[in-house]
Amino acid sequence: MNDCIFCKILAGDIPSDQVYRDEQVTAFRDIHPVAPTHVLIIPNKHIAAVNDLTAADESLVGHMFTVAKEIAAEEGISQSGYRLIINNGPDGGQVVFHLHLHLLGGQRMRHPMG
Ligand code: AMP
Repeated sequence: MNDCIFCKILAGDIPSDQVYRDEQVTAFRDIHPVAPTHVLIIPNKHIAAVNDLTAADESLVGHMFTVAKEIAAEEGISQSGYRLIINNGPDGGQVVFHLHLHLLGGQRMRHPMG
């Protein structure tokens, strides 16, 4: 997608602090971190949002979580804990419309449900 900022990062047209890449996914540090560890795991193919997933993407989405777990270990936050978030759509807080999994850790977070 020409106007997708994360596709531009994937293409190397916009710099990023990349922490992981394989054939299916790429991970880089969020430019505005809200926790000591804040990494985004994204598919290498453009999928705008959870709404656009199909059954054919199920292994890809599972891989995003496996990679998130591995990055959490690399970051040293496996035992202390971390949060994985996917925002979908405007009311879900999604700002960038290229599917991404937030990996947040390194500090105790308040429970969002109160
Ligand atoms: P979301 O609200 O779930 O769509 O989250 C989008 C995230 O992308 C935000 O946390 C932004 O800080 C992050 N972001 C936007 N542009 C960049 C960029 N160029 N490099 C790294 N992270 C970015």
